[in-house]
Parts: sequence; C-alpha cells; structure tokens
Amino acid sequence: MTILIIAEHDGAALKAATLNTVAAAQRLGGDVHVLVAGHDCGAAAKTAAAASGVAKVLHADAAHYGDQGAENLAALVEGFIQADAGYTHVLAPATPFGRNVLPRVAALLDSSQISDVIAIESPDTFRRPFYAGNAIALVQSKDKVKVLSVRTTAFDAVAASGGSAAVQSLPAGPDLGLTELVGREVVKLERPELTAASIIVSGGRGLGAADKFHAVLEPLADKLGAALGASRAAVDAGYAPNDYQVGQTGKIVAPQLYVAVGISGAIQHLAGMKDSKVIVAINKDAEAPIFQVADYGLVADLFVAVPELTAAI
Ligand SMILES: Cc1cc2nc3c(=O)[nH]c(=O)nc-3n(C[C@H](O)[C@H](O)[C@H](O)COP(=O)(O)OP(=O)(O)OC[C@H]3O[C@@H](n4cnc5c(N)ncnc54)[C@H](O)[C@@H]3O)c2cc1C
Repeated sequence: MTILIIAEHDGAALKAATLNTVAAAQRLGGDVHVLVAGHDCGAAAKTAAAASGVAKVLHADAAHYGDQGAENLAALVEGFIQADAGYTHVLAPATPFGRNVLPRVAALLDSSQISDVIAIESPDTFRRPFYAGNAIALVQSKDKVKVLSVRTTAFDAVAASGGSAAVQSLPAGPDLGLTELVGREVVKLERPELTAASIIVSGGRGLGAADKFHAVLEPLADKLGAALGASRAAVDAGYAPNDYQVGQTGKIVAPQLYVAVGISGAIQHLAGMKDSKVIVAINKDAEAPIFQVADYGLVADLFVAVPELTAAI
C-alpha cells in the first residue's frame, strides 16, 4: 500500500498543512510518498524529504507548474498514478489548494473523493463531518484509488525535521494550457497566518465598525502574539478582510487559544473554530450561543473588557 500526498508549498518550503496530511497518511499504514510539483521548487522538495514519516519525495519541476494550476497538477498526478499500480490513496490538505486540485484528480481517476476527513478508521473507512460539523459520517470507499482531502486541524503535524527520504525526479506531465495565472496579490501579514496560529483573537459584528475592530483587537493580538480572525458578519460589514473569516465558508482553525469577541456563535462560525483547545468568549449577551462552547466566558461590554484585559496582560 502506497500513499501519494500532493504537497502544498511555496517553492521554498512545505506549507504546514502538508505536515498534517502526512500525519493522516501515517494512520493508513503503508509508504508515504510526497509529490512536490512546481517551478524551481528544489528547496521545497528538500524540506519534504526532511519531514518525519516520508518514505520518498517525487519532484516534478517545470515552468507550467510554476503557478500551481490545478489542471496541470491533476493531469500530472493522474498520469503518474495510472502508470504505477502500487498507489492506493491520494491525499491533499483540505485547504483552498487541495480543494482546487483534488476533485479534478478524483474525476480523472474515476474515484469518489472523500472530503474533510477527520479520522482514519482503516485503509478504506473514514470519518468526515457534514451539516456544518453537527453530524459525522462514517464512509467506506470501494474505489481502487481512494482520494481523500484531510481536515488539517484533526491531525497533529509530523515533525518538519528528522526524516531523510530519497528525492526522485519525475518527468513533467503535459502542459494543458487551459489556465494562466495573470497576477497574484499577496497580503503581507505582520501576524501569524490564521490557520497556523496557536492563538487567535477573533472579532464579530459586536465591534460595530472597521476602525473599532482594529483599535480594540489589535493591541490584544499584539500582546498575545496572535493572529486576527473575524466572523462572516464582520467581514461582510467591511470590518476585516475576507481572508480573516473563520467558519464553514471561511477558514477552519483549531488553535491552542481562540478569543471570540462580540461574536454570537452561529453554527456556521462554530464549524470553523469549535475544535480550538481553549475558547474564551466576551459578549454582553449572557444567552449568546458562543458561551455553550466557551471554556471561559465573560459577560461584559467588549469596549470595556478588552482594553482592561489587554492592559492586564
Ligand atoms: C451558508 C452560510 C455560511 C456561513 N458561513 C459563515 C462563516 O464561515 N463564518 C461565520 O462567522 N459566519 C458564517 N455565516 C453567518 C452566520 O450565520 C452568522 O450570521 C454570523 O456568524 C454572525 O456573526 P457575528 O456573530 O459577528 O454577528 P451577530 O450574530 O450579529 O453577533 C454579534 C454579537 O456581538 C455581541 N455584542 C454586540 N455589542 C457588544 C458589545 N459592546 N460587547 C460585547 N458583545 C457585544 C452581541 O451580543 C452578539 O452576540 C454563514 C451563514 C450561512 C447561511
């Protein structure tokens, strides 16, 4: 049994989500191979080889993988899997990257993708959430090659070092020429990346305005070394950018500490953060549903409580 993981990387190093995916693959048993496809991505292939639990790294380097386009990547993976009957599973993290590539791989392999896997019961049986995490399905796959996207928060990452896998060059697949990356606007974050942060301070509609969102939450986040997150209502109201959104249609996070400020706790928000290790909620409404999942709750006006908390840290 051999498992292929499609690595998410930036050319220089693996993204943390790939290390969580390796951890999920280890639960399957069998050899774990990691595909690093990109352009000038030799450094990323080396970081993959150093990750604990990786048996082999497959390195495909070509200009047409430079933009990580899903079409070319999926064609590469399909060609490779069809040529080597030993592969039984293809995994990728359930991040925007994995959600883009993996369904195409599944379609090309005529497999039914199993998305957002949170537990591996056996090589063909998995658990995944549905109804925004309110129910868990136990799914058995009879596909020859099982295609799984992995909910990264459900698996602790393997160590980024300690491994010494061989790196094998892979001939590039076809350039389908179907898409072209026209531009990329990268927001330079001063803070930790939301999905990798160990502490998140998140704000909701209770903040009332964009300037208050930043004026109240940033000093607290600075003191805690935290990433900033937001509810969808806060994003829709323009208090915070889109990529701050936590929840069913935003990012799924599970930090050590999640501080929810002026967030009511709608199920779609909880779907993105309820696996956080410690949840602190500050809300002036004692009946707010967020208190049902909070480990520590403070019924207070956030405009008083948050500056006091910040000053006390
Ligand atoms: C298909 C679908 C997908 C969705 N996806 C997401 C998603 O990914 N993420 C997400 O967050 N939402 C999502 N939503 C929206 C979700 O249903 C809620 O509308 C949203 O989460 C509410 O955001 P909120 O808690 O900031 O706002 P509200 O529900 O308006 O809550 C604001 C809270 O602030 C408190 N408050 C107000 N003033 C103060 C004060 N001065 N001090 C202290 N507390 C105060 C209030 O008591 C209240 O509890 C989705 C909805 C749908 C239908």
